[in-house]
Amino acid sequence: MAKKTKGQELAEKLTWSATNIGKEAPKQIAKAQKFCEGYKNFLDEGKTERECVRYAVKLLEKNGYRPFERLMTYQPGDKVYFVNRGKSLIATTFGIEPVENGVRMNGAHIDSPRLDLKPNPMYETHDIAYFKTHYYGGIRKYQWGATPLAMHGIVFKKDGTSVEISIGEKAGEPVFCVTDLLPHLAARQNERHLRDGLKGEELNIIIGSLPYQDEEVKEPVKLLALQLLNERYGITEADFYRAEIEMVPAVKAKDVGLDCSMIGAYGQDDRICAYTALMAEIDTRMPTHTTVTILTDKEEIGSDGNTGLNSDYVLHYIEDLADQSGALVRQVLRSSICLSSDVNAAYDPNFADVYELRNACQLNRGCVLTKYTGSRGKSSSNDAGAELLAKVIHILEKDGVYWQAGELGKVDEGGGGTIAKYVAHMNVDTVDLGVPILSMHSPFELSSKLDVWNTYRAFKAFYK
Ligand code: MN
Ligand code: MN
Repeated sequence: MAKKTKGQELAEKLTWSATNIGKEAPKQIAKAQKFCEGYKNFLDEGKTERECVRYAVKLLEKNGYRPFERLMTYQPGDKVYFVNRGKSLIATTFGIEPVENGVRMNGAHIDSPRLDLKPNPMYETHDIAYFKTHYYGGIRKYQWGATPLAMHGIVFKKDGTSVEISIGEKAGEPVFCVTDLLPHLAARQNERHLRDGLKGEELNIIIGSLPYQDEEVKEPVKLLALQLLNERYGITEADFYRAEIEMVPAVKAKDVGLDCSMIGAYGQDDRICAYTALMAEIDTRMPTHTTVTILTDKEEIGSDGNTGLNSDYVLHYIEDLADQSGALVRQVLRSSICLSSDVNAAYDPNFADVYELRNACQLNRGCVLTKYTGSRGKSSSNDAGAELLAKVIHILEKDGVYWQAGELGKVDEGGGGTIAKYVAHMNVDTVDLGVPILSMHSPFELSSKLDVWNTYRAFKAFYK
């Protein structure tokens, strides 16, 4: 190679940009491929927050974690977990330093946008049986028509027992769907704003078309559907009031691209950070600081509710940790650091005009550090301090983790939020870190395997 000019040398010293990992560290490709096999399995097994918690508990138990007990005394290296109402989870590996010197928190969310069944969902019209739905989280409603959906959830019956529901995932099982108009008759629908391409009350899901054989029955198609559900799960129509049922895309996680460099799947926001955080937690043996890995619920609807981060369940857990070692909880919190681990919008060349490329994250450039989110001048955002960014970047670079900086689109183009502000509210230093995603919140989100791998490496470095 030709000797570098003075200007080239100076530019190398003074300028910075994130590099394509595939160019600079092709050896990581094989490692990323291997790691992502486990990730794809997690996506297929965890299509609801409850399923993610169940999967995580199984994995944690297998790796020596035990249920957290408030009155126990724990030693460095001990591993525990705590489940909050079946829908969020905290896992800890006790550190060498006392908790008074701070814990290392990593919070990802395991709820994803979807169609929830209404409390009274079943009806029949014109010999077709349907479910009424109420969408959960920010979806682009038109994307949810004419695509196969699976039914997941839990029903509590009158007798106090419960039953888990899953239809549409296994080979041979039926799926469900929302219909859309044929182009031939869509001229008027085409004139609608895209946000109303399918309206909220049009997201009705077809569940059957054959009648129960009895002339005397008023709604025989609905009755047959109910009979089939009753045979399979022992439930009746009234039980839907005691249920949480989520209709989610029925597709499995797939490799995308001839080079299999990407993953396409439902729910990667934010199970991509949940999985990488969980694996980093499990692979951490004797950390300096006690780890607090949080897989939380309700982020997609603003973190409200007692399984979301805008409740005190994490604070109470840290209070318990503080009590165990006779520390003041406020002292623990003010010395702690948290990664609010969530996805960011990857630059999409197809829709370039909503991004500001110098400050957008891109596929295959590593995990993305997001100083602030929010909208209209950073409103409603945790704008992380420079001191914290310095600390986190130091942790990443010491371990050779590929990272990039990202903003959520152009100024005033839109915006969003994460759990970061709720953690920061506890007086914890918090910054967002996650994975770039294309087609975020769609039924088929896209990520890069190299970015997944480097996010795992970031979390491991953070827990050292
Ligand atoms: Mn998210
Ligand atoms: Mn989201």
